Amino acid sequence: MTATVPTTAAFIELDERWSTHNYHPLPVVIAEAEGAWVTDVQGKRYLDFLAGYSALNFGHRHPALVAAAVEQLHRVTLTSRAFHHDQLGPFCRELAELTGTDLVLPMNSGAEAVESALKVARKWAYRVKGVPQDTAQIIVAGANFHGRTTTIVSFSTDEVARADFGPFTPGFTAVKYGDAQAVEAAITDRTAAVLVEPVQGEAGVVVPPAGYLRELRRLCDENNVLLIADEIQSGLARTGELFALDHDGVRADLYTLGKALGGGILPVSAVVGRREVLGVLRPGEHGSTFGGNPLACAVGRAVIKLLATGEFQERSRVVGEHLHRRLGELVGRGVAEVRGRGLWAGVEIAPGGPGGRAASEALMARGVLCKETQETTLRVAPPLVVTEAEVDRGVDVIAEVLGT
Ligand SMILES: *Cc1c(COP(=O)(O)O)cnc(C)c1O
Repeated sequence: MTATVPTTAAFIELDERWSTHNYHPLPVVIAEAEGAWVTDVQGKRYLDFLAGYSALNFGHRHPALVAAAVEQLHRVTLTSRAFHHDQLGPFCRELAELTGTDLVLPMNSGAEAVESALKVARKWAYRVKGVPQDTAQIIVAGANFHGRTTTIVSFSTDEVARADFGPFTPGFTAVKYGDAQAVEAAITDRTAAVLVEPVQGEAGVVVPPAGYLRELRRLCDENNVLLIADEIQSGLARTGELFALDHDGVRADLYTLGKALGGGILPVSAVVGRREVLGVLRPGEHGSTFGGNPLACAVGRAVIKLLATGEFQERSRVVGEHLHRRLGELVGRGVAEVRGRGLWAGVEIAPGGPGGRAASEALMARGVLCKETQETTLRVAPPLVVTEAEVDRGVDVIAEVLGT
């Protein structure tokens, strides 16, 4: 009798039959992973060039992060916020110190962090700035991505993300990304905040024009408006600095953090920022059953420890420069443009080349996993533990697939 080993096709069939079809994954079924590599159910290995959209900045199963999780699993995993526990205070203190902020509001998913920041900004507008109740306005950027809740998709400019999900939450104004004058024109005495991704990930790793972020800071200062930086994807070493904003020497009033904060192990998000802003929340006004749970805090503390060394920021700078040099060689050879910062690149496929989906599938067949964003952009974001030799290998495969 031979035991039947489920095949890739069998697992995909199960997903298709039993899970909602809100994603269109590549036809690979991952069973194991370590560092920058994953192994599928057939035993084939792939170089991970996506890193869970930056949730896996430290690679798969980083030993220090797994150790922190395992140790905490043996102590206490959940208390709810009805009680104190011995991981929350240390986590908040260490995260505030790492980020140079005053207070930490722990949540779980990135979307929850963004929602929390929006609520805090509105409350700040009414209680501190003196905006008349229920009239606060928040300025956002076109082509933004901040998550999937009904309020967040209310100010998305992506029709696929919005269609059939109305009625939408009012109070948001979207203006062109990278255009500080458009923000200036949109500011009124009811403006509570400007919410921006310092680099737009989902839009195709779009770096704004030089001076844009500094100009937003100036406009916010002059008009008593909060600057909220969504660093969920761009932050925590992805671009070669702790925050993408750091490249411009700009500080935000609130930062939303997520993805890599959970070390690729569990969802951990937070809003961090100034006491005058986050301090507006009072008991009962906001919360989350799992937010700031002991396991999340223990893993988050191990993440903070890794970031505090600066080693990953440095790796992103050095290996990222190599990545961009190598990808730059493909421009004019199947690649129209390469954007990005650090170990993060949007590779724009030249007209006449394969579509993003077809390119991703061809990369997969050759042992490299990455994913298109928009129709014709490959989002390259390897774990920050990737080596230059592994980057070379991945870029060689991209050249093979896109080369003409
Ligand atoms: C991923 C992401 C989010 C949403 O995070 P989830 O954990 O998926 O809810 C929000 N903002 C940015 C910039 C992101 O990249």
